[in-house]
Amino acid sequence: MFIDEVKITVKAGNGGRGCVSFRREKYIPKGGPDGGDGGKGGDVYFRAAEDVDTLLDFSGRPNWDAQNGQPGSGVNRHGLNGEDLVIPVPVGTQVYDTDLEDLLLVDLNEPGMKVRICRGGIGGRGNKTFATSTRQTPRYAQTGRPGRVRNVRLVLKLIADIGLVGMPNAGKSTLLSRCSQARPRIADYPFTTLEPMLGIIELDEERRFVMADLPGLIEGAHSGAGLGINFLKHIERTRIIVHLLDIMPMDESEPADNYKKIRKELLSYSKELGKKKEIIVINKIDVDPDGEILKKIKKKFRKKVYTISAATGKGIRELCEELHKQVQREKVEQKKEQI
Ligand code: GDP
Ligand code: MG
Repeated sequence: MFIDEVKITVKAGNGGRGCVSFRREKYIPKGGPDGGDGGKGGDVYFRAAEDVDTLLDFSGRPNWDAQNGQPGSGVNRHGLNGEDLVIPVPVGTQVYDTDLEDLLLVDLNEPGMKVRICRGGIGGRGNKTFATSTRQTPRYAQTGRPGRVRNVRLVLKLIADIGLVGMPNAGKSTLLSRCSQARPRIADYPFTTLEPMLGIIELDEERRFVMADLPGLIEGAHSGAGLGINFLKHIERTRIIVHLLDIMPMDESEPADNYKKIRKELLSYSKELGKKKEIIVINKIDVDPDGEILKKIKKKFRKKVYTISAATGKGIRELCEELHKQVQREKVEQKKEQI
């Protein structure tokens, strides 16, 4: 399981101060108290939002505060309530309170789920409310109550949109680091698990997807050899499989044969994997400058093949754009199936 994790502090709004005020009107020398109550501070909520994929928005922003309530004022005016803060998080985010021995507060596993995590402070009462028949001119009011503060840890189990498979040395790691370096924010992104490697690929502010390098896929993986079986489990959860093929493998094997081997491996693990959308990518085209080898390889595939050089970067942008497009399409399809 890939884990994305952040620690933030959330704070509900403080209640507004109550007001000390006395009526002042012409010809009424001693007006009664008329200080209004303070407004309530805003609450903090988390909402499971389907259009949020990662916890990246939280990096570099450790504090999230709801608005404070406004103080009350004269003529019995109640202060405005502070606005609630609703924080969108990806579906599947768990919220832990680190001050309460890491207590799990909520698991936001249903799209649209909205849960209050901190209650805003109530507003202070104005002096008007302290007036009694024996104390007609109270010169005091209450301060508002502070909003609740919590230090929380957000944990998201990421599902890779793209699972990268291929023979050892096909260039999977190189490709992943290439794509991720496209935006430096990703390069130093902390992953708590080392393998399989996971990269968040950001095309721009709004468009990103998650790609996993699944290095353990070797022949015999389906029978549990090595780490293979665990990686196959990961692939099951990805939306699209990218087959990365070396244009000219060192062992002089044929890219098309390598493709078949990997595919057979996937199929022998589960028939469902065979139905998963897959994209074929030929890597290392820099070693074939005149395109002669590529021409021969392309003939062996009935499907479209994408070509890149993970080393020089050629074709990578186009590939990532295409992958993002297809991931979006698959998301829509997979949602339809769930309904
Ligand atoms: P992996 O085993 O699939 O993760 O493959 P790696 O990413 O570790 O790459 C294996 C080798 O191929 C490394 O020596 C890379 O430098 C090299 N390599 C990867 N991509 C390219 C490429 O586009 N062109 C060339 N010439 N070499 C590449
Ligand atoms: Mg590798």
